[in-house]
Amino acid sequence: MAKKLKGRPGWLELSEDRTSFVFMPDRAKIVRNIFEASISGLGGYTIANRLNAKKVPAFGPSLNWDQSTIHNMLRNRATIGEHQPKRIQGGKRIPDGDPIPNFYPAVIEESLFLAAQVARQKNLASGRGRKGRLITNLFRGIPTCAYCADPVKFKSKSNVKSLICSNVIENHGCFRMAWSYKDFEHSFLEFVKNHASDLKIERREREPLAELVSHIRALSGADVYEARMGIAISLNATVSELKIASAGPTPVAGNSDARIRLDHLGRYFEVRFRGGGSTHTGFPAGK
Ligand SMILES: [Zn+2]
Repeated sequence: MAKKLKGRPGWLELSEDRTSFVFMPDRAKIVRNIFEASISGLGGYTIANRLNAKKVPAFGPSLNWDQSTIHNMLRNRATIGEHQPKRIQGGKRIPDGDPIPNFYPAVIEESLFLAAQVARQKNLASGRGRKGRLITNLFRGIPTCAYCADPVKFKSKSNVKSLICSNVIENHGCFRMAWSYKDFEHSFLEFVKNHASDLKIERREREPLAELVSHIRALSGADVYEARMGIAISLNATVSELKIASAGPTPVAGNSDARIRLDHLGRYFEVRFRGGGSTHTGFPAGK
C-alpha cells in the first residue's frame, strides 16, 4: 500500500486516499501571479493587499493574504517541486538530509523562481538606499546557530558589524559570543574558493559552486555591487545549511548579562551545499 502523505503546500491538495498530491490549476495560477508581481518590483505587502482587494481567497485557514505568507511562498522551493525533510530539534524544525527534487508537482518553473530571488535581493538592497550602496550582509536569512538552531542575525552596533545568535540578541540564553561580520564573510568566501577547486568534491556540487566562485572573483573587478548581488543570490541558491559556532567546539556558559564577546579563537562554521551530501567545516581564514 502506498504511504500516506501528511502535509502539503497550500497550493496543492491531497488525493482522497492521501497517497498523492493533486495539482490545482487555479491555485497554481495565483502562485505564478504572485511570483510575477514580485519580479515586477511589488513588495509582499502590496501583493497581499491586491489579492485581498480582488477577494482572492488565501490557501490557508485564514481567508486573507498577509505579507509573511507572500514572503514565505516566494522563498519556498516547494513551488518548484522540491521537498526539504525536517526534524525537530530543541522544539524547532530544522533541515534533515538533502532536499528531494520532484517531490511535489511544480507550480512554477525554476527560472521564474530564480528571477524572483534576484528581484527580492534587488528590492531589499534598494530599500536600504541608492544602488551604489553595497549589500552589507550577503548571508541574510541563511545561517543558524550551531548550539541552539535559532537564526543567526546580522547586527551593526557602534560601527561593529557582527553575526549573533538571535537568542543572544533577545537575551534568551545561548552563548554570548559573536563573529565579526567582515571576518566571517572573508573566511566563508575563502573556504568556498578552496573547496570549489578541490578535485574530490561531489559532481553535483561542482556546477553551482563554480558559479558562486565566479561572482566571488568578480569582487576584485569594477562592479563590486553587481558582484555582491551575484554572491548573495548564488548563496541563496547553493547553501542548504550553514551552522555558525561562534563560541567554538566547547563553549562555556557565562552570565546571562555578560558582555557579548567577539571572535572566539575556536570559532568555526559547518556548511552543506545543495546537491552535495556531506557537511564541510570551515575556520577563520586569516587576513
Ligand atoms: Zn544560539
